[in-house]
Amino acid sequence: MNDLASLAERIINGSIEVIDLTSPLHSRTPILQLPPAWGQTRPFQLEEISRYDDRGPAWYWNNFSTGEHTGTHVDAPNHWVTGRDRGDVSQIPPDRLIGPAVVIDRVAEATANPDYLLDVQDLEDWQQQYGPLPKAGWLLFRTGWSARGDDPERYANADDQGSHTPGMTLAAATYLAATDLLGVGVETVGTDAGQAFGFEPAFPCHAAVLGAGKCGLTQLRNLNRLPVTGAVVIAAPLPIVTGSGSPARVLALAEK
Ligand code: MN
Repeated sequence: MNDLASLAERIINGSIEVIDLTSPLHSRTPILQLPPAWGQTRPFQLEEISRYDDRGPAWYWNNFSTGEHTGTHVDAPNHWVTGRDRGDVSQIPPDRLIGPAVVIDRVAEATANPDYLLDVQDLEDWQQQYGPLPKAGWLLFRTGWSARGDDPERYANADDQGSHTPGMTLAAATYLAATDLLGVGVETVGTDAGQAFGFEPAFPCHAAVLGAGKCGLTQLRNLNRLPVTGAVVIAAPLPIVTGSGSPARVLALAEK
């Protein structure tokens, strides 16, 4: 049997598990709230066109509206000014949406300190234990934050200083930007910390990683079900021409 036939067979027989890393989309799906000086994204909204009724007797369908960066989504390189010439979401080569995934677990740290920042030492320690970061792969930053994902207030964890959610340092972002990764995935609303609007420079992960032509993956769930190494992650954003990102279905394949 060739590799693809074997893969298909193993998905059917359950020895390779398909794990959905995607958060559901609805009107309470958490969205990023920036300081009021800046433009804001819209929540997800469904508008019914017909539902087996006089507007369409045999069919049900909706219009929807939302921002490109709602729920589980891909940040395309052109989302950030540093990556403005690096391509829009429709231009991400499809083979740069699928790759081996590794998980760095900082649930304990992020639970103890919501402003926890991943640093270069964490990445070096991880590689000491598990080997190099995967070429053309995803680094998934597990914080446990997705457990808050059904409650937008707990998810944003904001006070009068803004949102308090985990992220990474400028040094870690710069380090990751220089790797062969496809991109970085997180459980939070964005790849930067909640307080990163005030960092110097602001939003270092967006600036470094997207500027290097890589992607961000956000609002991931079920990272606890992935092995530390050995999974394959498939991110499928909509090919919005000129778009800066898109809601995406993100699936992982993992040996059972
Ligand atoms: Mn985004």
